[in-house]
Amino acid sequence: MTEIKAICGDITEDHGMMAIVNAANTSLLGGGGVDGAIHRAAGPELLEECKTLNGCPTGQAKLTKGYNLPAAYVIHTPGPRWRGGNEKERELLADSYWNCLQVALDHQISSVAFPSISTGIYHFPLREASMIAISTVKRFVDHNPDAFSQILFVLFDDKTRHMYDKAIHQVCSAESVS
Ligand code: ADP
Repeated sequence: MTEIKAICGDITEDHGMMAIVNAANTSLLGGGGVDGAIHRAAGPELLEECKTLNGCPTGQAKLTKGYNLPAAYVIHTPGPRWRGGNEKERELLADSYWNCLQVALDHQISSVAFPSISTGIYHFPLREASMIAISTVKRFVDHNPDAFSQILFVLFDDKTRHMYDKAIHQVCSAESVS
C-alpha cells in the first residue's frame, strides 16, 4: 500500500523521504522558486553534479545526490511552461510525474516528495495541475503497487495544499470507500 498525502511546508526540510523532486528548468543549472531553494539547501556540489548531466528535456527526469539536503537524492524534472494549453502542456506535466517515479523505481527509492510542478513561475493552472499530478501518481502506483511506501506532496501555501487535498479525495476516494 502506498500512502499519497499532501502537506503544507518547505520541501527542503526533513520529511523523512529518500528523494525530493526539483521543478527544474531544462538547463538543470538552477533557477528561482523551488529550484533555487533546493540548490541553496543542497550546497554548491549539487550544481557541480548537475553540470555533468547536459540538461534535461521537458517532461523527462534525471537523478542526483542530495548533498546537504535531508533527502539522499534529488530527482530533477523540467515541467512545461503553460502557453495556453495547446502545446502538449498536460501530457508533458503527466510525463514529469510519471518519469520521476520511474527514475525512483529504477533506483529502489521507496519514498518521494513532490512540489507542485509548473504552477509557480511556469503558470500552469493550479486546479488542472493538481488533478494531473494526483491521477498520474495514482496510475503509476496502481501499476507498481509494491514500489513505494509514501508519495508526499509538500506544498508551499494553503491554497495549493487545499487543491491537492481535493484532487486526492477525488482520485483516491473510490479506493478508501471500498
Ligand atoms: P515552476 O517553474 O515549475 O512553476 P516554481 O518553483 O516557480 O516552479 O513553483 C512550483 C511550486 O513550488 C509553487 O507552488 C511554489 O510556490 C512552490 N515552492 C517554492 N519554493 C518551495 C519550497 N521551498 N518548498 C516547496 N514548494 C515550493
